[in-house]
Amino acid sequence: MTIEPSYATLRAHNQRITGMLADPECVGELLLVGIGMARCVDLGDPPWGDTGSMPMKVIAAAIYGNRRLPGNLLGTTHLSDRGDHRPNRRIRDVFFADRRRYSPDVDGDRSWANVTCGRPMVRREGLCGRSASSNARRLTDPATGQRRWVGSCSQPACKQWFTDLLDRNRAELAAHPAPEPPANTGGVLERHLPEVDWWKVWRAVDKTWAPPPEGRQFERPTLTLVVDDEPASEPVVSARPTLRVLDGGWR
Ligand SMILES: [Zn+2]
Repeated sequence: MTIEPSYATLRAHNQRITGMLADPECVGELLLVGIGMARCVDLGDPPWGDTGSMPMKVIAAAIYGNRRLPGNLLGTTHLSDRGDHRPNRRIRDVFFADRRRYSPDVDGDRSWANVTCGRPMVRREGLCGRSASSNARRLTDPATGQRRWVGSCSQPACKQWFTDLLDRNRAELAAHPAPEPPANTGGVLERHLPEVDWWKVWRAVDKTWAPPPEGRQFERPTLTLVVDDEPASEPVVSARPTLRVLDGGWR
């Protein structure tokens, strides 16, 4: 049975969608899933069960249907393309990419290829600044737990400085383990759909996920997605891989 939504309901729904559209991080497939879930949360389409829970499969089917979609619809870069027609798998990928977490790649940090030598100069202000792409590491800041690229060029004095720095960093971390840094990425759908218990979802799509130190959003979730036990995307390797000779040779 469908109930005609009230004016207030429609208005709340429109406000939520407007918020998503105005959010520069809510793009690509996240936006598609967000709009689909907003329909479900605000307008009960498809309706949540009496207990406020729903199998994720139902939502996935409502959003994607069973049509074939282009694989690169995902608005993220670190997922393999899944241009398939398995809605449940797709929605898992979206939730996985949006799990709230700390990522050292996000804080505007440079990639290893652009790292420059960080040795402070003795006779002038500033750092050495030569290319350090062949000798760069990600060091954990013992005070914050954040990881940043540091490197040295090939000059002996710089290499020595870097070796000492690595030793010092290792000793500091051993003496005082760094705190878990606050999340700096993900959680986009969580901000627009705080009714949903995302922690359960993220735990289900990523067995290693742990709540970031900043904790939950201030709103308490009331709706639960029941994540089916689909086999993990990366098969767990329990035995040593064996080499096999395949007949046929080069094509
Ligand atoms: Zn240098």
